[in-house]
Amino acid sequence: MKPILVGNWKNHPDSLARAASIASGLAKKSAQYKKLATYIAPPLPYLETVSKKIKGFGNLASQDIFFAPEGTYTGATTPDILKSFGVKLSIIGHSERRALGETNEVASDKIKCALRSGITPLLCVGEKERDAEGEHFEFIREELRLSLEGVRRKDDAGKLIIAYEPVWAIGKRSKEAMQPTDLAQMVIFIKKVLTDIFGREAAEMIPILYGGSVEGDNAKALIETGVNGFLVGHASLDPKMFGEIAAALETHA
Ligand code: PEP
Repeated sequence: MKPILVGNWKNHPDSLARAASIASGLAKKSAQYKKLATYIAPPLPYLETVSKKIKGFGNLASQDIFFAPEGTYTGATTPDILKSFGVKLSIIGHSERRALGETNEVASDKIKCALRSGITPLLCVGEKERDAEGEHFEFIREELRLSLEGVRRKDDAGKLIIAYEPVWAIGKRSKEAMQPTDLAQMVIFIKKVLTDIFGREAAEMIPILYGGSVEGDNAKALIETGVNGFLVGHASLDPKMFGEIAAALETHA
């Protein structure tokens, strides 16, 4: 499987002109992204502009998805609309949405809706803090179990992506990201939980990404941990740094 690189722009940058300039910056190094499965998730109003700039080397993603494919829901952007812009993947259950009240049950509804709409769901899980007793492992097990409720082993599991994003490691500099040895341990644990839910054959098809302060200088060590790629926040707005991360992933292509 190709390494996966997803850029989550969150609510940045603050203008369409700036968004176009960042996307043009990425396009200058387009060859670097072609060996990867690259996705960019800009703020919704920038979808069309970014889509044109990344065509040929990257795919469009959304930072969230609504839990009904179509209908009358004022203020919601339904999957059908996202699809009409060419969105191929949706981030679901990001910790910043969970902080606004999104539950595992809502994440589960969104995953099922994305699957029904032909959009790849990228489910985010991650503990807020760690303790010596290892409570965070149980927390991750529960988030996975509840968020994946109703996802069918046979038809759906192979279309899923999981992003492990410890909340305490998000939005910092690379030095404060997770240590590779701890990440390697968590990747094994997540694979075990996915095997318990879906069985070994299906679980093996599910890519696991890491997200949380991935920058140019820690990407190489983090990719050696058994993850299949990265979900990148702030560094995805910096074409030079995002290019360095892509270069580290390329060595695993
Ligand atoms: C994120 O919010 O998904 C993320 C990984 O952010 P950052 O890379 O800035 O830590």
